[in-house]
Amino acid sequence: MSSITENIETLRRTLPSEVTLVAVSKTYPPEAIMEAYQIGQRIFGENRPQELVAKYEVLPKDIAWHQIGGLQTNKVKYIAPFVQMIHSVESERLLEVIHKEALKNHRVIDILLEVRVAQEESKHGWEPETLQRYLQQGSFRNLSGVRFRGVMGVASHTEDAERIRQDFLQLQQLFTSLRRDYFDEQFDTLSMGMTSDYPIALACGSTMVRIGSYIFGARRPATPSENIE
Ligand SMILES: *Cc1c(COP(=O)(O)O)cnc(C)c1O
Repeated sequence: MSSITENIETLRRTLPSEVTLVAVSKTYPPEAIMEAYQIGQRIFGENRPQELVAKYEVLPKDIAWHQIGGLQTNKVKYIAPFVQMIHSVESERLLEVIHKEALKNHRVIDILLEVRVAQEESKHGWEPETLQRYLQQGSFRNLSGVRFRGVMGVASHTEDAERIRQDFLQLQQLFTSLRRDYFDEQFDTLSMGMTSDYPIALACGSTMVRIGSYIFGARRPATPSENIE
């Protein structure tokens, strides 16, 4: 048995059955994805739209592709025809573009609101107060091309498990209050936890984990040009 197969089987044995596994395949070749596919994995996460499209084109069409990394508005059109969920929705402008591109494709696209919970330099995600103010004002209800499914977050990059736990708890509480105040049962996804911290995320109520290196092995470091994508 190869290690990709083994690693996915280990995760299946250890993740609670109601938790969804997104296999984060960014930087790994289609062959690695096919190996996971062959044992039944169907949800894969990528962070660069160009790479996502290239893999979509050569791989089986029943794969559910998730865009998990920062997304520029001018790239939405490339993934709108097929992407199943976008985790990294962090602005009103991006919501509007996804809505428009979804309608052009006669689709409704599932999205997660990415919230900034890490107590550090991270540039990604809504500030919780800004997000509350935006939802309060109500215009999101006109975005018929977008289905609001939940929230996503990345915890502080630290060895300090207690601090990571605080970040995840903050996200979990925000998720619960947004669902109560603005959404319904359809708002059911709390995407948090990656290779280094998913056990803590599960303890804090995660319903979807995004796991890459645990499954596929260590990635090569990104080049500077990839980082500014
Ligand atoms: C790369 C990435 C992951 C997966 O990270 P691993 O440490 O390889 O599990 C999860 N979420 C996001 C947003 C990522 O960019």
